[in-house]
Amino acid sequence: MEKIRVNLKKQIDNSYDIIIGENLLNKIPKELKQRPLANKYIIITDSNVEKQYGDILLKEMKKNGLKTYLISFKAGEKSKTRKTKEIIENRMMEYDLGRDTLVIAVGGGVVGDIAGFVAATYYRGISYIQVPTTLLAFADSSIGGKTAVNTGFGKNLIGAFHQPKRVYIDTTTLKTLPKKEMKNGIAETIKHAVIKDKGFFRYLEKNVKQLIKKDPVVIEYITKRNCEIKAKIVEMDEKEKGQRKILNYGHTIGHAIEAASNYKMTHGNAVALGMVAAVKISIELGYMSMKDMIRQNNLIEAAKLPVILPDISIENIIKAMRYDKKIIDDKIMFVLPKKIGDVFFTDEVSLKLVKKVLDELKVKKVNNQ
Ligand code: ADP
Ligand code: ZN
Repeated sequence: MEKIRVNLKKQIDNSYDIIIGENLLNKIPKELKQRPLANKYIIITDSNVEKQYGDILLKEMKKNGLKTYLISFKAGEKSKTRKTKEIIENRMMEYDLGRDTLVIAVGGGVVGDIAGFVAATYYRGISYIQVPTTLLAFADSSIGGKTAVNTGFGKNLIGAFHQPKRVYIDTTTLKTLPKKEMKNGIAETIKHAVIKDKGFFRYLEKNVKQLIKKDPVVIEYITKRNCEIKAKIVEMDEKEKGQRKILNYGHTIGHAIEAASNYKMTHGNAVALGMVAAVKISIELGYMSMKDMIRQNNLIEAAKLPVILPDISIENIIKAMRYDKKIIDDKIMFVLPKKIGDVFFTDEVSLKLVKKVLDELKVKKVNNQ
């Protein structure tokens, strides 16, 4: 018998830069011309973003002599499927795109997730860059290399970790972003502040009105802070084995509310309610102070996000949690805040307590108790 060892222990450097600024879209082609990342480029975008920004980028790329193609799919979460991925890959093969191709994802989280996953598996993996165009994608999905598609069995069940080569955040693109979409990003921004940074939380308390109005100075600042916070967490735990799970703050109940509403409720609204419920649970278990709870909930309200649960069946929310999460002895893993800027993991939350808190969220503002 013989034994041959395949030595694959290696140090990998997946580091990359996030570049934030106004009107970056015009600068990308020039930069790629000066310092090419590939021989060919494929812009992947959706039907809305194509008209607003994809076409402009394609034109500029071609003007700079860069061999570039564009593929777009119908905007919306419903398109985030294996089928869409297959259609994109087939088109890429028709265009004769090989390993020397760079994917440029231009759009919100849906585009980033599909385009990133295409890049992760096309020719066993090619490079990509992210050009996010929603506040949610600025704050969340464009950083960290999580890529995925949905299936009938659940969201994001098929995917890969594949880090982008670079992220260009053009803050000007928010000018056309609908209010409803802005709020999704604001909810994740509040989440970042509550889990990691009380100074940032104070900044948000002072500037939430300007943020809603898309004040460029505020947008640039919060984008920078969001990226710094997310990057720090991803650096500690690239593959979400532990610490990165604190980013699930507000999402354990939030995802269940979203599912129980048949995805009629927006992600931001559901996460806001998830955070309101989480602080209430934290108070019930004796961790958080009333003062901090009121501060969090006041900021959520000032951001025009909900603090009262609308008419969604609590039974269905609990059912969704049972389906979605690991539950041992009726207990569920939770990220709870101790105070603004500091969260911890606990497995002492029972579904019974979740139900009690949700019941209370339905009938009255938790602030006024
Ligand atoms: P996310 O997951 O980041 O919330 P999606 O990819 O689902 O975002 O995008 C939300 C919606 O906003 C989609 O209909 C998309 O086409 C649209 N959209 C994305 N960016 C912009 C923008 N900058 N201006 C206008 N609409 C946009
Ligand atoms: Zn989220």
